[in-house]
Amino acid sequence: MLTPEHIKEVLKDNCINLRFHARGGQGGITASNLCVEAFDGYGACQPLFGAERMGSPTESYVRLSTNEDLVRNNEQVYGPQFVCVLDPSLLGEIAVDAGMPKGGWLIVNTTMDQVSLQEVVGRKDLNVATIDATNIAMDVLGRNITNTIILGALIRVSHLFSIENLSNAIMARFKGAIAGKNIVAIKQAYDDTCVYDIGVDVDFTVDSKVPWQQVSLGLPGYTELDMAGVWYKDETVISVGSDQVNTGSWGEWDVIWSGQKADGGKCTDCAQCWYICPDLAILTEEGEDGLQHMTGIDQFHCKSCLNCISVCPVDAISKKLKQGPAACAVPEDN
Ligand code: SF4
Ligand code: SF4
Repeated sequence: MLTPEHIKEVLKDNCINLRFHARGGQGGITASNLCVEAFDGYGACQPLFGAERMGSPTESYVRLSTNEDLVRNNEQVYGPQFVCVLDPSLLGEIAVDAGMPKGGWLIVNTTMDQVSLQEVVGRKDLNVATIDATNIAMDVLGRNITNTIILGALIRVSHLFSIENLSNAIMARFKGAIAGKNIVAIKQAYDDTCVYDIGVDVDFTVDSKVPWQQVSLGLPGYTELDMAGVWYKDETVISVGSDQVNTGSWGEWDVIWSGQKADGGKCTDCAQCWYICPDLAILTEEGEDGLQHMTGIDQFHCKSCLNCISVCPVDAISKKLKQGPAACAVPEDN
């Protein structure tokens, strides 16, 4: 386990690298800014955006050192010793461990236990910390914004800065009650983080460019669209919505359709939800009458904006929280 004294020594001669994985709108970039603002030394951060859309995967990079000469590089970070993942749905889409040296720390907002997480990522040589940041965010902030909360977990395992320094950075950036709630949330995250230290020390000298392909060709988002520009419903081209791109699984809710009235549900087939859904995630099929009838909700593309719930005149759509209670597989011995 890293100690504050060890990190202090490392920072004198090395640049420590961090990478944040988030979805557009979750505040991953702000998290990287806050790292630099909370750090007592020299720091630099850069964002990387993909498709400019709320819910799309984003990355941001941080370099920290107490040696001014070592924080000169404006490239993206290729060999991060610490990686923070703000949204658990990214684990299936992005190689979050890319470039991480063995013994690196993977810090993830998830209810999965740490051993399961190692299996999902396919790396047994990484230290893991998990935090149910979504539930803390909903409880304390009232919104699924997990950026400051993941920093509480980062402090717990990295000692790169203190809760007090991060609180000061938050107060400088946010106003009044919002700052106060974020500080409560980071303290809770610090306490609640499940830490799985595999006993392998990370190599802090790694700061080199390593070849890696973040998203392989053929995965959603990298398939060529034969009709570009606008996604629209045309069964001959795209069966429903943006079926080549997971447009945003950011959202804390599963959105549930009750079924057709004729089948015991509440839906009257008014199609208002279909018109308002920004991701065309309302599924329909042609019936024997030649008309389209609602058949469900495409959970892969639904980003839980809840527009459909707000327009449905008969309450045929409801929501339930995606994440269950957190699991902690490995008891900590400190
Ligand atoms: S919550 Fe409803 S409107 Fe929003 S993306 Fe999901 S199905 Fe579409
Ligand atoms: S808005 Fe409600 S009633 Fe209308 S089609 Fe959608 S689920 Fe059915």
